Amino acid sequence: MALPRLSDLGLQSQTIKFLEDSPKKLLINGEWKEAVSGRTFATYDPAAGEELAHLALADTADVDLAVEVAREAFESGSWSKMRGEERGRLLWEVADLIEAHADELAELDTLDNGKPLRVSRRGDVPQAVKHFRYYAGWAGKIEGATIPVSIPNEMVYTLREPMGVVGLITPWNFPLLMAAWKLAPALACGNTVMLKPAEETPLSALRLGELMLEAGFPPGVVNILTGPGDPTGSAITAHMGVDKVAFTGSTAVGRLIMEAAARSNLKRISLELGGKSPNVVFADANLEGAVKGATWAAFSSAGQECVAGARLFIEEPIFDKVLEGLAEQAQRLRVDHGFAEKVHLGPIVSEKQLRTVMGYIEGGKGAGAEIVTGGERLGGTLASGYFLKPTIFTHHDDSLDLINEEIFGPVVAATSFEDWDELIQRANSTRYGLAAGVWTQDVGKAHRFAQQVRAGTVWINNYGLFDAAAPFGGYKESGFGREFGKEGLDLYTQLKTVWLKL
Ligand code: NDP
Repeated sequence: MALPRLSDLGLQSQTIKFLEDSPKKLLINGEWKEAVSGRTFATYDPAAGEELAHLALADTADVDLAVEVAREAFESGSWSKMRGEERGRLLWEVADLIEAHADELAELDTLDNGKPLRVSRRGDVPQAVKHFRYYAGWAGKIEGATIPVSIPNEMVYTLREPMGVVGLITPWNFPLLMAAWKLAPALACGNTVMLKPAEETPLSALRLGELMLEAGFPPGVVNILTGPGDPTGSAITAHMGVDKVAFTGSTAVGRLIMEAAARSNLKRISLELGGKSPNVVFADANLEGAVKGATWAAFSSAGQECVAGARLFIEEPIFDKVLEGLAEQAQRLRVDHGFAEKVHLGPIVSEKQLRTVMGYIEGGKGAGAEIVTGGERLGGTLASGYFLKPTIFTHHDDSLDLINEEIFGPVVAATSFEDWDELIQRANSTRYGLAAGVWTQDVGKAHRFAQQVRAGTVWINNYGLFDAAAPFGGYKESGFGREFGKEGLDLYTQLKTVWLKL
């Protein structure tokens, strides 16, 4: 059977209409505008390599325009001084609109990113809704404190104020959800924003922009600029009129953003970067749960997750058994077009990313790591897309690139360990520190591991769970700043201290 063509997918009529209305434009000051240069670029379906739509390519001139109107909107107070409760009402309205258009948004993410429709529809879209609702609740509750000081007759209090004009730069692995993760708290705090989605997956962000206009955001508050990292992203990060950039993506680009901030106006930055997370299975674990959990930790989103459990540590006595179970599970995963029935994994997002992942697989083989299963691109009817078989390596050498670099594909490297000190030393011997997992029925051991592993999030007997209320972010080169929860408000506000003579 050939891959379904777009017209055969049974898409919502709204999705088709949205795709046909091409080239897509930039959202600036509440209006859809072509790029000043008139340039466009294309976005592709990674399952078929087919073009989906053309989009305006924003460069410095468009960023200048967006910063100007975002600044005007911020200074006018139309958003920043609106009562928090009212801002919350609008954010709640966005959540309702996402819910009402859930099928369409899920389809756009599946087309653009390749992820299974079931995952977009039951995972990404409802989580985006929850995120807007969670921060809608905070919008009227952003408060300072009164501080007892040692100087007599002085009263000191703090105010939490918005940063101003904020740039939000998101990657391609969770297109709608990452936009929600950044837009909801930034707007709840009263900032005006420019969202730049990844060039590979810009569609759902633009549809979200339409829904935000429908919700009634004042002009200039939400601006959406599509285009590549350079020039679009780099123009935002270098801009003297941008007060803060919130970024999710690679550690390499995170460094560029820090440099751009240092060279420009010392804008505030928060970075959620790469990972190479250890996932540990102890001999006393519930093995069935651990094997299933380790499978999903490694292969969910075809491994294109910053928290992927890509380094699997298995206690020596159960190594063969766990590996066998993992290989069985991996071979059972159905890799196919995101719209196919009962599909588990979609394609890699782009040809470039596929080449990167294949490079790590070949490098691992060449350096002596052994392939247990996978390691190849899928052919036949899937040959025109970027599909890879779930791949398991075993290894004894922690110095391999396969073990140290973020691969961002369906590749897990399994190794055995014998004692606690060895495990902790090896689990922590990475420049990253985003997340970790541990599988054991010994509660004390689980908590000891959670305390000793250098990672921003630890999952015990589960993996990859997120909630708008639970802080998330990295140690070490996985970045800094905590998104979600009350801590997420700190990323988008600054603190003012007021002294009053009594
Ligand atoms: P990038 O870090 O390049 O992209 C993330 C976002 O940053 C995209 O919107 C990108 O734009 C933008 N960007 C790129 N260059 C600049 C720049 N100079 N200034 C400002 N913004 C910029 O990730 P890639 O898509 O290239 O993926 C490469 C690797 O990054 C992956 O293999 C993976 O290891 C890691 N990654 C990590 C993610 C995470 O969640 N931590 C998510 C995605 C990737 P555009 O894409 O339009 O060029």
